Amino acid sequence: MEIPKKPLPVVNPWAKPFWEACREKRLAIQKCKECGKHVFYPRIACPHCFSDRLDWVEASGKGTVYTYSVVVSNAPSAFIKDMPYVIAVIRLEEGVQMLSNVVECKPEDVRCDMPVEVTFEKLDEQFTLPKFRPIST
Ligand code: ZN
Repeated sequence: MEIPKKPLPVVNPWAKPFWEACREKRLAIQKCKECGKHVFYPRIACPHCFSDRLDWVEASGKGTVYTYSVVVSNAPSAFIKDMPYVIAVIRLEEGVQMLSNVVECKPEDVRCDMPVEVTFEKLDEQFTLPKFRPIST
């Protein structure tokens, strides 16, 4: 049986700077010029104060695992070969949350509040995905 290709991200015009930064292995998030809060996912207006004065800034790339799930069965067909894999909500130092994968460790070693840092996985010329790995202390 042929395994289907993984779906690629759909890029909104206002999310382009995020994907451009990923290609350069930088994690970019938005910051509101009005209220100073960080914003992720990319938006056209601040979800805190509704200002449209959003800047792009570089995130530290560091954060912690807020919650996670280990996929051990019934993955979508394009992801079957990846099992077991970890889907996680990462809380960045900047306060925003990002849905991603935890990589470069055994799934059973992942814990909530575990410190992680961004690493980038290049899919093709257009897309590089931010993923997270444990920070070795
Ligand atoms: Zn704001």
